[in-house]
Amino acid sequence: MPEGPEIHRAANRIAKALVGNTLSEVEFHYKTVEGLEHFFLNKEVEYVKARSKGLLISVGDYVMYSHNQLYGRWTVNCSTTKPRPTNRSLRVLFGNEKNTARLWSATDIEILEPWELPGHPYLAKLGPDVADLAVQYDDVLAQVSNPKFARRQLSGLMLDQGFLAGVGNYLRSEILFDAGISPYRKTGSLSNTEQKELAKSAINITSTAYHEKGVTVPQELYKVLRDNGQTRRQARHYVFTRDGLECHNCQSLIVHTRLSGRRLDYCPICQK
Ligand SMILES: [Zn+2]
Repeated sequence: MPEGPEIHRAANRIAKALVGNTLSEVEFHYKTVEGLEHFFLNKEVEYVKARSKGLLISVGDYVMYSHNQLYGRWTVNCSTTKPRPTNRSLRVLFGNEKNTARLWSATDIEILEPWELPGHPYLAKLGPDVADLAVQYDDVLAQVSNPKFARRQLSGLMLDQGFLAGVGNYLRSEILFDAGISPYRKTGSLSNTEQKELAKSAINITSTAYHEKGVTVPQELYKVLRDNGQTRRQARHYVFTRDGLECHNCQSLIVHTRLSGRRLDYCPICQK
């Protein structure tokens, strides 16, 4: 399942292909949007934005909301390139003179007016999106220190998109390690300094993952580890999928566990 940085990178690819250009080709092949092509045809694409796992495409007076769930997938091609044969069903096609973006197999597609976005059942529940490069530190810190979440253990809370949107499984392990906080802690037990560390790490680690295509350690360290024969999987993260290997900070062994149904790795010494 892709996490925030991957979804934002996919959104950027679509944005580059479409934003600022007029749609000369629009196809909708799904019950919730069929017949509404004229809302978008011959109009300019204003923005393409990821919101957690949802995607918003604003064209003319309307915004298309889609959520990929498990099977949905976007592809972007030159308009002259035919898509590869696939078992997926085409749901949406947006084309201009140069590029064609296609949405396959998604089952959650709606056309909304801009005023409907804040009240949308999925969008309204999301916390600040740490995978959005424009996210504000103060908004993230406000969530981390919000008494509403005080009794929740970080292991589960970190995957809740209503707490911080954009965080998935590998980011959960990496952010908690970077902040030096144990996954078993509750936000209510964090000192002010720890709250600030967590907010900072959530933004920094996610933005590194966005820029470095899923790598969360600094590039220098990543290169040294790769040169020393470690696989990509062993080298790309501080702790995630590194159980049984040495912590880069303290040399004790990274521990593996499953919390909230998914794998979590941490350093029992560095994470207090
Ligand atoms: Zn350590």
